[in-house]
Amino acid sequence: MPQAVYPGSFDPITRGHLDLIDRGIAIFNRIIVAVLSNPKKSPLFTHQERVEMIRDETSRWGDRIIVESFDGLLVEYMKTKKANVVLRGLRAVSDFEYELEMALTNRQLADEIETVFLTPSVEYVYLRASTVKTVARGGGDISPFVTPSIEKRVLQRYAELKSGKTI
Ligand code: ADP
Repeated sequence: MPQAVYPGSFDPITRGHLDLIDRGIAIFNRIIVAVLSNPKKSPLFTHQERVEMIRDETSRWGDRIIVESFDGLLVEYMKTKKANVVLRGLRAVSDFEYELEMALTNRQLADEIETVFLTPSVEYVYLRASTVKTVARGGGDISPFVTPSIEKRVLQRYAELKSGKTI
């Protein structure tokens, strides 16, 4: 299949996101990772930082992974990219209601767009970016959840915040 758009906040990118990208790239020629520039909650990393981190983590795929930012309606962004498939992750059952609502809303807005759901490896089924932040803030070990370079950046960011730096 030609290409899919994988939207999310990626604050920060986790091993679960990367697992999904690995699976997606076996199906799609190209994945456009679309980083939401204005997530509802104030993010730990700026939009530019999140884009950079994803680019670093996915560089081995070359131009098969494109990382971009987007804001506003996903379906409008998809049209500008001439993409018809949205890639999303389904973790535990708890994701289902929200994901179904989004997929059906997007279909209502643009009937040609299909949402494809992939499930991660079982060890990542309960992993969400907010867990990484909660554990890191409390001084716990986040190495099972993120790659070493992301771990470094998360710890550095909390150290900066502790010392009063504003992001
Ligand atoms: P999070 O819930 O982690 O803050 P995002 O908004 O960044 O997630 O999620 C973007 C997409 O990635 C969503 O489709 C979400 O279901 C998927 N995703 C996030 N974490 C995982 C994971 N551990 N395994 C599979 N998919 C995931």
